[in-house]
Amino acid sequence: MKLSERDKKHIWHPLTQHKTYPENLAIARAKGVYLYDESGKSYIDGISSWYTCMYGHCNPEITDRVAHIMQNLDQVVFSGFTHEPAVELSEKLIALLPDNQEKLFYSDNGSTSVEVGVKISLQYHFNKGDRKQVIIAFEEGFHGDTFGAMSVSNLSVYNGPFEGMLLEVIRIPVPNGNNTEELLSVLREICETKKVASFIYEPLVQGAAAMKMHDAESLNVILEYLHKQGVLLIADEVMTGFGKTGTAFASDQISQKPDIICMSKALTGGLLPMAATSCTQEVFDAFYSDDIAKGFFHGHTYTANPLSCTAALAAIELLQTEAIQSQIRQVIRYHEIFGEQVKRHPMVRGVRQCGVIFALDLDLDMSRYGGLRNKMFSYFMERGVYLRPLGNTIYIQAPYVIGQEEMNTIYEVILSLLEELPAMKMNQVE
Ligand SMILES: *Cc1c(COP(=O)(O)O)cnc(C)c1O
Repeated sequence: MKLSERDKKHIWHPLTQHKTYPENLAIARAKGVYLYDESGKSYIDGISSWYTCMYGHCNPEITDRVAHIMQNLDQVVFSGFTHEPAVELSEKLIALLPDNQEKLFYSDNGSTSVEVGVKISLQYHFNKGDRKQVIIAFEEGFHGDTFGAMSVSNLSVYNGPFEGMLLEVIRIPVPNGNNTEELLSVLREICETKKVASFIYEPLVQGAAAMKMHDAESLNVILEYLHKQGVLLIADEVMTGFGKTGTAFASDQISQKPDIICMSKALTGGLLPMAATSCTQEVFDAFYSDDIAKGFFHGHTYTANPLSCTAALAAIELLQTEAIQSQIRQVIRYHEIFGEQVKRHPMVRGVRQCGVIFALDLDLDMSRYGGLRNKMFSYFMERGVYLRPLGNTIYIQAPYVIGQEEMNTIYEVILSLLEELPAMKMNQVE
């Protein structure tokens, strides 16, 4: 029996409506920028398996390091114990993060890194004797699927059944460069009438909102205002972290630095699950006390797993090599050239780019996961390219190590889709 058939028997897939989704493709192997299915067909991983494997799948610089350490050390409790990979990683990460970050809390995935950031921001004010429970977030933000992370997210397709069971969150529009004054007056009103604990934001690029991009200057103005109001700033860099925006973190391009930063996805270069939440000394100090109850009583069994820490160390060392930095600059150039070429195409409404993240909006109105979107997905897959359009947005976030030829293959299937779209649309019954 085919693997995809056996899969159907017991497995419940994430973000999947099993009744309407035919079957999950079995991937047998992944190497470099390629995925290989069980029949041997290859696909260029144009979205780096959800923005994780930026140094290519099964990069030996990472796998060898992990294979070596696992002969000597595996999971150990991280409450009461510590180990070399965790300590070394903390030193490397703090050196890479914006200068004001001093402490790191490890966990397992993007949602838990957000959950930790949100809980720290709430307890910070509580510990200081000033309970605050309102959180500000962006419209169409996405921060993960656990309850706290889901509360601050705003994509209703995921949150509908849980409305009314979530944290108190006020949403504001994203800064587009023309609405700074309007945003400031909205924030003034909120801060004067509510006790605001924190503001959570995906800096510069909102991934799940189809790579919506922000105006950095305007974002900086609202961050500065909120900082002056004593609102803790939580930068969710789960997607943008580790080089995606052209700098190590998107926050590097914004002068007001966050109090808390959430990271995961590319942290281990796609080998193992891991996340971290960093914060300033000032935040940490609000928990540092002779009173045990002021500590942060949150922990996951696999916190700072030594293999994950080792993978993260190898990934960060790769990121800092001249080879990877020059590949990042290359990818940015490829996208700039392609963007110029494609932006005047009659089927294209607009293009945008931030670092290696490229997005193109089709001049069509369509649903996020509707029939036409699925046809486009299949069109790419049949031609050996893995891209996941979101509604009318096609975006690329390929591994840094992609070569010019493979990048051209991605661009070419997008260009040929643009030619076929009018016919595809005519035959489409939604
Ligand atoms: C993916 C993502 C998350 C959630 O991470 P998981 O590992 O899927 O839980 C949170 N925030 C942002 C910005 C993300 O892109």
